[in-house]
Amino acid sequence: MDRQPRIKILNMDPYAYNLDEADIKRERRKARELRASQWWKRRLAKGVCHYCGQPAPPKALTMDHIVPIARGGRSTKSNVVPACKTCNNAKKQLLPMEWEEYLEGFG
Ligand SMILES: [Zn+2]
Repeated sequence: MDRQPRIKILNMDPYAYNLDEADIKRERRKARELRASQWWKRRLAKGVCHYCGQPAPPKALTMDHIVPIARGGRSTKSNVVPACKTCNNAKKQLLPMEWEEYLEGFG
């Protein structure tokens, strides 16, 4: 089977993976499907951020990939969680180690 040309994900991340563009497109599509599912709507209805455990209105919660797609994470039920805006922003801006420390603050 022919492989798609590989593209390099440049995000200043030392753990950046080489991913197929087709892989990324597939995982983004799967994420959209998950977002539309009853399973996801039930998760949002609980109204709790997975990371900080704070209550949040379902509309304020977004789908976060625990392992980001850009690092080889998949759009599966075990890899996506509802996250509040604060945690979502923190996860995007912090280095992986800083993010670990951020999470420990809630432990
Ligand atoms: Zn949170």
